[in-house]
Amino acid sequence: EEVYALRKQLFCDAQSISYENSDPLMIVRGESHHLIDDRGFRYLDSRNNPACVGWQRQAVVDAVSRQLAKTNSNTRYLHPYPVLLARELIRTMPTGSRLKRVFFVNSGSEANDLALRLARTHTGATDVVVVERAYHGHTEAVLAISPYKFLGKGGKGCPEQTHVVPCPDSYRERSDHESEQEFASRMAAYVDEKLEYVEGQGRRTAAFFVESGMSVAGVIMPPRGYLTSVYASVRAQGGVCVADEVQVGFGRLGGHFWGFEQQGVDPDIVTMAKPFGNGVPLAAVVCSDAVANSFTNGMEYFNTFGGNPVACAAGLAVLEIIQSDRLQAHAAETGAYFCERLHALMQTRAGCLIGDVRGSGLFLGIEFVRDRVSKEPASKEVSFIITQLLHQHRILTSCDGKHSNVLVIKPPLTFDKSSVNTFVDALELALQSVHDADL
Ligand code: PMP
Repeated sequence: EEVYALRKQLFCDAQSISYENSDPLMIVRGESHHLIDDRGFRYLDSRNNPACVGWQRQAVVDAVSRQLAKTNSNTRYLHPYPVLLARELIRTMPTGSRLKRVFFVNSGSEANDLALRLARTHTGATDVVVVERAYHGHTEAVLAISPYKFLGKGGKGCPEQTHVVPCPDSYRERSDHESEQEFASRMAAYVDEKLEYVEGQGRRTAAFFVESGMSVAGVIMPPRGYLTSVYASVRAQGGVCVADEVQVGFGRLGGHFWGFEQQGVDPDIVTMAKPFGNGVPLAAVVCSDAVANSFTNGMEYFNTFGGNPVACAAGLAVLEIIQSDRLQAHAAETGAYFCERLHALMQTRAGCLIGDVRGSGLFLGIEFVRDRVSKEPASKEVSFIITQLLHQHRILTSCDGKHSNVLVIKPPLTFDKSSVNTFVDALELALQSVHDADL
């Protein structure tokens, strides 16, 4: 209570806190895919992707502590860790990729901010095309390409140089008679329209920013062929394509290491953050030689903490564990099992509120609707479910999407089949209580 009161006094209301209305949590310890609060309650964590190899993973803690005890310098000095990490990172890129240059930064926002600057410097253009409800970060420049914020609550509206295209949401936007390919082409045509509009204004498009799996939009997986087509159009206009892998990178989608690989595209710039340092601030921009070289015209790039040896020690440990624990394959297998159980639940009486189960690997969305034909969003029910999962079952979840009716599941990649069982059994009980509560 004292901490909460002090926070209220010193922070402002815009700094939101989870479960504010029911029970703000004070987390004091993490263990694999569990978090423990100050009262000793242990929560199953299905919502926090930064701890990708597990909260307080010993090998990461050791690597960070060892380096912190020695020194934490910056990239103006030589140190093996930043270059070793850059080399390992480049090794995760698809064979033959043009992605060969690394800039280290500290957060997803910083990574996208730098990507935006690189794109504009490289192309000499300013306009940017983004997808409806996309969120790319909180700096002034990146907020201006984040419709989630500028079109959301308290937003200032769409800036002139940003162009928002509809979200390729197969569940809500694709009509019954449309094939996946037709849907992809129809959605890609919206981007062509925006590119033509920019040209018509006598300007050019610098970049198209997109996530390979759209997180805050409610786990929207682009239909096959959409990104290939959009990338071709953007490049034909001289723009670059930026893959924001902040949420979906590092094997989360299962199988491929990067989300854009699943979509069969080769971006000019890739941004990554959240899971990279397993909780230690570490982020990066990886780009082609051509894009990186646009900065060499006498321009210096320096970032005090970007690429510091302590954060890089964390990054090196994370990459090693993802490989040694086969976490990509694990995410694919656990995710497939999760979907199987959710689809089974969907067939039961309690599961009738589930309208759609989607995603890939351990990046899943469950969309709740009052009626499967009208698809009326069950937003009130979802917030009831979240509270039930927290209080009755000690499971941490969150919701997002245009109608706030999608449970977003993106746990640490150590999440296993027994956690899936715990989650789905609890969800079934929570759904039964929704019926009993008669909201
Ligand atoms: N891009 C995406 C897709 C994100 O989800 C986020 C954060 N939620 C960011 C960028 C910004 O990252 P950060 O909060 O580390 O600045």
